[in-house]
Amino acid sequence: MIDLKSQTPEEMTRTLKDMGEPAFRGKQVFSWLHGGVSSFDEMTNLPKSLREKLERTCILTPPVAVRKQVSKLDGTVKYLWELSDGNCIESVLMRYHHGNTVCISSQVGCLMGCAFCASTVAGKVRSLTPAELLDQVIFTQKDAGLPVSNIVLMGIGEPLDNLDNVLRFLELVNCPEGLNIGMRHISLSTCGIIPGIDRLAELGLQLTLSVSLHAPDGETRSKIMPVNRAYPVEELFAACHRYFKKTGRRISFEYAMIDGVNDGDWQADLISEKLRGMPGHVNLIPLNDVVESPFKPSKRTAAFQKRLESHGVTATVRRSLGGDIDASCGQLRRKAMEERKGV
Ligand code: SAH
Repeated sequence: MIDLKSQTPEEMTRTLKDMGEPAFRGKQVFSWLHGGVSSFDEMTNLPKSLREKLERTCILTPPVAVRKQVSKLDGTVKYLWELSDGNCIESVLMRYHHGNTVCISSQVGCLMGCAFCASTVAGKVRSLTPAELLDQVIFTQKDAGLPVSNIVLMGIGEPLDNLDNVLRFLELVNCPEGLNIGMRHISLSTCGIIPGIDRLAELGLQLTLSVSLHAPDGETRSKIMPVNRAYPVEELFAACHRYFKKTGRRISFEYAMIDGVNDGDWQADLISEKLRGMPGHVNLIPLNDVVESPFKPSKRTAAFQKRLESHGVTATVRRSLGGDIDASCGQLRRKAMEERKGV
């Protein structure tokens, strides 16, 4: 079976040509798929015989919204999607003044094991296909009836552990015949997979790279982020400097403030030392309480921000959206999994 939706317009044209169809059919099918149809039968300008042939030879994997929560506080919408194999992922629609933003998942679960994160508690099941990445944007837009102008890859999963499919997804959302969302409107967040960061740098994509730092010293970072044992923070900083040199793009550093773990002034001092020579931006995140985690939110966020700024490092405190609807990564999926188990 052919996963048509993961194909570029050129590949789709070739696929249809191989079926004996004229070149323009590829464009028609691309435009239907990216417009959000759920079956080939909805492609009403194709001959019935072709629709049936596509039905027989290609798969479509539209997600089904099994839960939808709308925040009364700020209009944030959270979706729990069921995929065609029964697995569940989450996407979140956030309504910022600069445009509607969808936060999408890159994998079912996550292998990275960060000690404070709900997405990784049950490990990784599998990576998402380009079509499944894309469908989160397309079907969120369709369901909400709102145009989406920005995408962040900050949901469940580690995008650089699924880099080939993520790169294909970026190419697809970028297509003028499709969603036509430019790289500068896309952010990708990683826990620090260095070869992936280098590969992105090599490609020179104009997206915004976010690095989940959470601690500037190896000892603390290894305790809360097992990935630090494979890719130590010293080398991660070096990769970030290489990335900036290659792309000229400022990196955003995510920093969840954890009480007594990573909120010391000396850690703010160390961050500023490591960022010297590079215009980084530190995004301080109030820690979301995750039931399974022993960590508590820090009370030093304002002081930490001040300390960073005293060294000339820009630091902001992330405004938390969807506080009433489990809108932070992995929480809704965890809840649904627990309920299915009957716990
Ligand atoms: N795997 C990628 C992207 C997904 S997580 C990454 O690690 O960057 C998106 C962001 O939320 C990351 O910065 C992650 O560290 C952070 N995060 C995870 N759990 C959190 C929690 N309980 N409180 C605050 N931020 C959290």
